[in-house]
Amino acid sequence: MKIHEYQAVNLFKEYGLPVPEGKLAESEEEAVKLSEGFTPCVLKAQVHSGGRGKAGGVKAARNTEEVRDAAEKLFGMRLVTRQTGPEGKIVRKVLLSETVDVVREFYVSITTDNESGNPVLMMSSDGGTEIEETAKLHPEKILRIPVSVTEGYKNYQGILAADFLGLEGENRKELQSVLKGLVRLYGEKDCSLAEINPLVIDGNGKLMCLDAKINFDDNALFRHPEIAELRDPQEEDPREYEASQTGLNYIHLNGNIGCLVNGAGLAMATMDEIHAYGGEPANFLDVGGSATSEKVKAAFRLLLSDKNVRAIFVNIFGGIMHCDTIAEGIIRAVSETKLELPLIVRLEGTNSEEGRKMLRESGLAIIPAEDMKDGAIKAVKAAGGRV
Ligand code: GDP
Ligand code: MN
Repeated sequence: MKIHEYQAVNLFKEYGLPVPEGKLAESEEEAVKLSEGFTPCVLKAQVHSGGRGKAGGVKAARNTEEVRDAAEKLFGMRLVTRQTGPEGKIVRKVLLSETVDVVREFYVSITTDNESGNPVLMMSSDGGTEIEETAKLHPEKILRIPVSVTEGYKNYQGILAADFLGLEGENRKELQSVLKGLVRLYGEKDCSLAEINPLVIDGNGKLMCLDAKINFDDNALFRHPEIAELRDPQEEDPREYEASQTGLNYIHLNGNIGCLVNGAGLAMATMDEIHAYGGEPANFLDVGGSATSEKVKAAFRLLLSDKNVRAIFVNIFGGIMHCDTIAEGIIRAVSETKLELPLIVRLEGTNSEEGRKMLRESGLAIIPAEDMKDGAIKAVKAAGGRV
């Protein structure tokens, strides 16, 4: 789960990280009102995306007039950044942030290292820019230090970091305190990313976090009701949000074969199989091990709301889940949604015979598949792809 910068700033504050004063505005008028006695300030579009600066989502204002100007442009704006895709994100909230003079900019983050599966502290003196760029062009400019959330921050980590960034005097101590807070926040709140980009040395020679980005591990959200509360449904893919409400595990992709599968592992294997025959899945969808026919119906609705979908591949291995339950869900969903797309179904496992019989006798135009491979080939063909 992602949160807004203003919410991340509050968490930074809670963990003792130095952040500029900020005020949140939900309308142009409110922005103008809040800016009285608060200028000069920076107006920052609050959307779940980085790269806002380059896209025109961060504007400096010297006085109330300029605040009005900037707020007028920002509110309602469709902000298209490198991370949002062409559809962009509508700006509904704006953070007014105290202006900070920037002397030097750094990048600091903690995230999960895909190779080791452990958290890793990353930093670079190339702050303000996108770290992916630096990683590609100048990997030597990034320092990676493994961290342990159970053991917490260690002094040597701060010393290595301060040396690498070339910090001196008080700034070294300040960096250590920032890292200590960040490691504690990352562990205690079950983050998957905690990023400060940029961390700056300001005009007073002090370290300051000019941006705050935090992502959380969805599987640990049940431990943090106070974090779950920060969710902003308007920022999420409406399909992914609906899926989370119905207990479906759905991720939107860009292909044209809608997949409905039980179990995350089988769902991944299904996507691989589709790829192997030259097709592109439109989604990852795991209906879970104990899907009801209601859930199957909700899953069909989700798949059909994606206009790119040209064929649907249902791949079920019934263990706890009974294939006749799935068949019932499929029949109801197909009739109720008046499905016209080719539908390929592979049913295997508990009560598969009953399930297949129900589908045959339903009179619906369902293409049965012998196994996963056969199903993938038929789905790719039906969607008009290469086999
Ligand atoms: P992002 O583009 O979405 O990562 O948004 P940021 O919050 O990082 O803002 C973009 C850039 O604006 C930063 O990298 C800074 O260089 C700049 N910026 C933001 N706030 C201030 C400020 O108070 N003073 C100055 N000088 N620059 C700022
Ligand atoms: Mn930033």
